[in-house]
Amino acid sequence: MDTVVDVPFRLLNRKAHINSIESYRAMHTRSIKDPEKFWGEVASEFYWNISWKRVLSYNFNVRNGPIFIKWFEGGKTNICYNALDRHIQEGKGERVAFYFEGNEPNTFTSYTYRLLLQKVCKFSNALLKIGVKKGDRVIIYMPMIIELIIAVLGCARIGAVHSVVFGGFSSEALAIRIVDAGAECIITADGILRGPKQIPLIPIVQKAIGICKDNNLVVSKVILKNWVGFKAEDEKFISWDNLVDTCKSECSVEWLDSEDPLFLLYTSGSTGTPKGVLHSIAGYMVYASLTHRYAFDYHEGDVFWCTADIGWITGHTYTIYGPLLNGATSILFEGIPTYPDGGRFWSICEKYAVTQFYTAPTAIRSLMGLDSHFLEKHDLSSLRVLGTVGESINSEAWLWYYKAVGKQKCAVVDTYWQTETGGLMVSPLPGAAPAKPGSCALPFFGVQVQVLNPDGTPAAAGQEGCIVFDRPWPGIMRTIFKDHNRFEKSYFSVFPGHYTAGDSGFFDEDGYLWVVGRIDDVMSVSGHRIGASEVENAIALNKDIAEVAAVGIDHEVKGQSIWVFCVLRPQGTLNEGEIILYSVPNLKLKLAMVELTNDLKLKVRQQVGAFATPERIVVVESLPKTRSGKIMRRLLRDIFSRVKKQKLGDCSTVSEPQVIKNLVKQAMTLQL
Ligand code: ATP
Ligand code: MG
Repeated sequence: MDTVVDVPFRLLNRKAHINSIESYRAMHTRSIKDPEKFWGEVASEFYWNISWKRVLSYNFNVRNGPIFIKWFEGGKTNICYNALDRHIQEGKGERVAFYFEGNEPNTFTSYTYRLLLQKVCKFSNALLKIGVKKGDRVIIYMPMIIELIIAVLGCARIGAVHSVVFGGFSSEALAIRIVDAGAECIITADGILRGPKQIPLIPIVQKAIGICKDNNLVVSKVILKNWVGFKAEDEKFISWDNLVDTCKSECSVEWLDSEDPLFLLYTSGSTGTPKGVLHSIAGYMVYASLTHRYAFDYHEGDVFWCTADIGWITGHTYTIYGPLLNGATSILFEGIPTYPDGGRFWSICEKYAVTQFYTAPTAIRSLMGLDSHFLEKHDLSSLRVLGTVGESINSEAWLWYYKAVGKQKCAVVDTYWQTETGGLMVSPLPGAAPAKPGSCALPFFGVQVQVLNPDGTPAAAGQEGCIVFDRPWPGIMRTIFKDHNRFEKSYFSVFPGHYTAGDSGFFDEDGYLWVVGRIDDVMSVSGHRIGASEVENAIALNKDIAEVAAVGIDHEVKGQSIWVFCVLRPQGTLNEGEIILYSVPNLKLKLAMVELTNDLKLKVRQQVGAFATPERIVVVESLPKTRSGKIMRRLLRDIFSRVKKQKLGDCSTVSEPQVIKNLVKQAMTLQL
């Protein structure tokens, strides 16, 4: 679908930073022609203890030796200083940095830049007191509370390398990351509040520490924030509150080299074993700030809300660093979108008059399926920019976001990027160009993106190929922790001279990029290459379908055949009673299923072509997802593949292990 949506930007009552396609192109060209000048100017906005000697040096081609990327070499700075102290020096200490909205709607408070700095300094002093030093890796495993942000910035201030692990991970997944990072210090809390649930973290941490010990890693320091009220019986744990209590609220800054490591973050694990992505300080700082300012058209006085958990890169760059570096006021939300009811996100937008709202397609899809009164009862007129990230967004969901949430007055920015890229790479800029639902549009400043054929030649417009980036941007990862070889192999060996993202996509005639999906998820049927999302978009046109995943299952003749897995909407044309009866032989339901299957096949034939007609349509209760909410097509492929696999791929990142068990049971009954 290629409908162009021209956002009525004049209605937004504010001038966008970049308000025409011409000014976007002029600035993009400048950033590509003279990156040193462009990024040097951006970097000058920050405080440098010692200025850099050279803006950029790099080798992007494995044939010329090891890959390396260095930005602002010779410079010394500190990202925490630039995110907090600098604004206070400029007289903005009383500005709110975060509105904290707790799990319960009546738990909320705010933190000014001055207060946040005091708390960060106390915590940095606490870290120093227990012996954490520059270069040490520190694992942060916490709920979405202000102490998580304080812990991150507290590390950054003294040069410790933070590695946040999403609070939903199990002991095993946590332990793998602690061991890989070689971290001897963990910062955690007693528990997490998630909607009606109280989830204890202490037993998970204890078990993880045990696993680490079995792997010859002694975790000697555990700082525990008392939050939910669970008792810690382990005396080895140091109480956050007691520790910080005696620390001073000033802490001098450790001036760090531009290329010193800032953080380590593991990828979501959608395609395989998570990778320990390492980001360094100065380039990331410059890139996080500029992307936040332009892609969300951030202006002073705005209230920015990125809903991503800080355990993911989106939370790092657009909940913490980007907004703070721009002196912005943001929301930090502890809870979930459906508690106490399905209108929670919208009630928060109304309460704080949020201007930019940034979330993931998985959240948009689930909220879209709820009764419309949850949305309609809230005043969302403050919103100007609606962002999405993490997966391709199908046009139905895009249009719902634009129309129902944005009332056709907001720019929708579909931002394409990765843990590895540090910040968004391809995105429409609000006010610069019309949007196309489902396309992430144009490269950000400093980004040169291409779509390549397998032989390395550029693909023609409309032709699908591999998405690559031609040159380093400041936010690019520097290595995979302790595995530079895997870094070079994963990203630089397929097309020497380019960074390969691992996703496929195409450009349309207007130069807009359309991400089709992960290369691993591309299906090959009788020699035709078909992106999962093309089939899924067609299926999603049926209003009974809540969620869908298409995968290629091995087939003796065709190579692969397409199987479609879908979750039905609770209130579809199949009424609830019929869905409950699904597992029992029931004529009425069977007829409804035949009708549904026929319609879905027809939709794919019409939208994609007969060659892509699904061989099977399987209704499932839930799709397997990562903890960040992304559909794990590789597991569906493994489970339903006719070739009996010894073992499923890495399951450590699956959010609900029960979903896998149910799918395996269902696969058995299909008599593969
Ligand atoms: P792993 O690398 O461990 O398999 P992952 O790729 O899911 O996990 P992330 O770095 O969190 O880990 O996700 C980046 C990927 O998410 C991208 O490579 C792309 O496949 C997908 N993605 C992100 N944003 C978009 C978007 N706007 N449109 C389409 N796909 C997107
Ligand atoms: Mg990835």
